[in-house]
Amino acid sequence: MNILKYPDKRLKILAKPIKLINYKIRTLIFKMLNTMYAHNGIGLAATQINKHIRIFVMDISKNSNQPLIIINPKYIYVSTTYKKVKEGCLSIPNYFEYIYRSINIIIKAIDINGNKFIINASGLLSQCIQHEIDHLNGKLLIDNLSNKQKG
Ligand SMILES: [Zn+2]
Repeated sequence: MNILKYPDKRLKILAKPIKLINYKIRTLIFKMLNTMYAHNGIGLAATQINKHIRIFVMDISKNSNQPLIIINPKYIYVSTTYKKVKEGCLSIPNYFEYIYRSINIIIKAIDINGNKFIINASGLLSQCIQHEIDHLNGKLLIDNLSNKQKG
């Protein structure tokens, strides 16, 4: 699948929640995983493949064999302590930026079978989830300049 690249305006579209996880959505999720792995990415939001629905996939494991599928994520908690981290994005090739991310977050979401779950994340997991939720909200790390000025 083709990944939208900055400054494509479609990357700014706010993604809508998913009401029903049907065959079409499951197929899309598997295509997203394949696309993410093919580009050696650790996360991909539906927004990046021009589907404006609230799904992202991730895999931060060393061997790229622990896919995480997150649908309709919602923040339950966002820490107000930040860490400066270096970040890249498949939609902005060869660009890296230092930005501030909340150290700890808790989100609720549903999985591919529609089951609710909660993730309490810190470190790289927390950073990636924030990056992908930003995509669903039409935000790119290149837009986070005010964030950068915080520290
Ligand atoms: Zn990205």
